[in-house]
Amino acid sequence: MRYGQSILKIINSSHEHMTAEQVFFALKEHFPAVVIATVYNNLNSLYRQGRIRKISVEGQPDRYDRITRHDHLVCCRCGKLSDIFLSDLTADLEKQVGFQIEAYDLKIQYLCPECKKKEPS
Ligand SMILES: [Zn+2]
Ligand SMILES: [Zn+2]
Repeated sequence: MRYGQSILKIINSSHEHMTAEQVFFALKEHFPAVVIATVYNNLNSLYRQGRIRKISVEGQPDRYDRITRHDHLVCCRCGKLSDIFLSDLTADLEKQVGFQIEAYDLKIQYLCPECKKKEPS
């Protein structure tokens, strides 16, 4: 877990929803000898430990995010992710399902402004 802390720091301070490859290049600036397999291994174990989030969008590489509670807007055309901050729905969801939930992952689909511009009107 030599690189784990640095990877965690990179993800926690980024608001860009980085792919493993982007994390790799950011880490390489400090540790030129690092290989991408190491980054994948560390990302997987950080994810398993619940210290980072993984966001999967169909047709795109997984992206990684800080665990601070927030949700996402996803452009259905280009896959661009933006953070949105809604109130925590955990209590509401638990009331409806009648048991404790671990987590939820809300993705709201939209057409981002750039894609909207390209849309023929
Ligand atoms: Zn878009
Ligand atoms: Zn996010």
